[in-house]
Order: sequence, then structure tokens, then C-alpha cells
Amino acid sequence: MIAFAFKRIMKASHGIFRDKAVDRTICNARLTTTLREWFGWLDREDLGVLVRDTLRAKDASDNPIPKSIETEIWHKRRIHKCCFCGTTLTADSDSIVRDVQGNRATLEHVWPSSLGGDSVSDNLVPACARCNQVKSDLVTWEQGSVHEFIYPIDFHLSDYLPRLPLAQKILLQRRAVVMLAQREKISLKHALLAVGPFGDLKPLDADDTWDIFNTQNHLDSLGEVLW
Ligand SMILES: [Zn+2]
Repeated sequence: MIAFAFKRIMKASHGIFRDKAVDRTICNARLTTTLREWFGWLDREDLGVLVRDTLRAKDASDNPIPKSIETEIWHKRRIHKCCFCGTTLTADSDSIVRDVQGNRATLEHVWPSSLGGDSVSDNLVPACARCNQVKSDLVTWEQGSVHEFIYPIDFHLSDYLPRLPLAQKILLQRRAVVMLAQREKISLKHALLAVGPFGDLKPLDADDTWDIFNTQNHLDSLGEVLW
């Protein structure tokens, strides 16, 4: 629910600040009024924090990826992996990184830029064009439609996982990443790298053959996240 509320706040703030001709002080006042209407129970101090954090997130999401960061990440090595699906990404002779189909790879914001994710190295990971498009601004497991996760009665998780649609795999991976980041108090990027791509999804429990909601990730150490 927090993700939905945050999405709504960010959408409103982008709308308020869209017209660059309007003075920023006026926009700030409009944002404060909107947030006060929505969150009337907050005291003055908490509302101030909310306004300030929203402004910071809005400004961060307007930041394009600096060329220096692109260069730093892409040129660290010639071969990369898409952090979501694990497909190999290779730099061509012009140093443009592409997947095996020749589509240009991108740097993906781990926390979506539309929700205030800044274009800094700690929030950017290599992604193939397909995953980047599907991921869009999916943030949490809860954003997936429940209906997408209703399976036939004879459904066997271990058979089914490899055939899950890409968006569902990304949501499953997303859930593991958020849980790991919260538990270990590490950044989302660090957690994503520890969880790894979802190329070899496996059920947590061999007996857990149909209830996908029970596929919690457990791990004793970083890098051993199961699904
Ligand atoms: Zn991918």
C-alpha cells in the first residue's frame, strides 16, 4: 500500500511542477496544499518532512543518467549480464552494449526514476531492452495482479516457474530483493546483485507444488537466495 501511496504522491508532484513557467515557490505551495489535503492527520512537522522528501524525490527523478556514470558502468567490463534475466550483454566495436538479438542494452534504475530513483551508480544496473520495458515502474510484489498468479489445480510450481511470464518473474525477483534489502539493511542494488538473475528460479520447498505465495526466499548467507 505504501508503494501505491508513494506513486500517487509522485504523480501529483510531477503534475504540479510540469509547467516550468510557474514559479517554484508557487509549485511548492501547491504541493504542500495537496499533501495536507491527503494527509490531514499529519502534524506540521511530519507534513514538512513529507513535502521535503517528495521534492527531493521529484528532483532526483528528473536527473538524466550522466554520461560519466554510463561510461563508468559500461566500460568496467566488455561483457555484462542483464541483472533481471541474466542474458549476456556484449559491447560491440563502437562500445555500444547489446544483447544477443542486437538490441541495445540500457542502464535500469533499481528504484524507478519515476518514483524518485536517482541516476547514481548505486541505483543503476545493466538490463536488456526486454526486461527494461517489462519492468517499467514495477516496485513491489503487491503491484502484480492477483489474477496473474492463479494457476490450474494440477499446477506444479517446479514445472511452471521456468515458463512464468517475464513480468511475474520480475515481481518474484523484486519481492526477494526487497525482503533481502530490508532484512540485511543493504541497498536495493546490493540486494539485487545478491539475489541474482532469475534464470534458474526454483521453488523453496519441493513439496510446495502449487501455492506460489509461500515461495518465500530464505537464505543463511548472502548470495544463496532461493525463491
Ligand atoms: Zn533481461
